[in-house]
Amino acid sequence: MGRAVDIIKGSLTMRDIFAKYGFEQNRAGFIVCPFHSEKTASLGTYANDKRWKCFGCGAGGDVISFVMKLFGLNFSQAVIRLGADFGFTDDEKTDTRAMAVQRRAQRAKELEELEAYRKEWDSHMLRYRACEEAEKDFRPHIGIEAMHPSYIAAVRGCEYEWEWLQGHPWR
Ligand SMILES: [Zn+2]
Repeated sequence: MGRAVDIIKGSLTMRDIFAKYGFEQNRAGFIVCPFHSEKTASLGTYANDKRWKCFGCGAGGDVISFVMKLFGLNFSQAVIRLGADFGFTDDEKTDTRAMAVQRRAQRAKELEELEAYRKEWDSHMLRYRACEEAEKDFRPHIGIEAMHPSYIAAVRGCEYEWEWLQGHPWR
């Protein structure tokens, strides 16, 4: 939608709109206002023919609001109508398709990353549990044994894995 709006605002003038929808401009560029009953043309344009104003009823706006008011459409409907009437439809469709493809690719990438993260998280959790077990298995009996190297390794492993898990919330 954004691209179509840009194209419409950038390239369509009120002269195009008047010509397309059957309004005849007088020599001064005014048309008979379709939004109130009048005999003398009092709807004119300004801002390089991008905006319009009726000096009879006070209505005014830009290209899109003219079409909204004329056909009783909301903003999106007016953009679609202008796109169709002036041949921007294909661009818009191509654009939407390209965006959908991009969004799908982005979603797939995010899922892949999440999957990898969860695998890594699981392996850290498994190692943490294994260290906990080893810590229990090799815990020295006080006063009897010297500290087993596997016990020290297990304690360090527990600390390391715990630290990692603290820094990486489960997602
Ligand atoms: Zn008017």
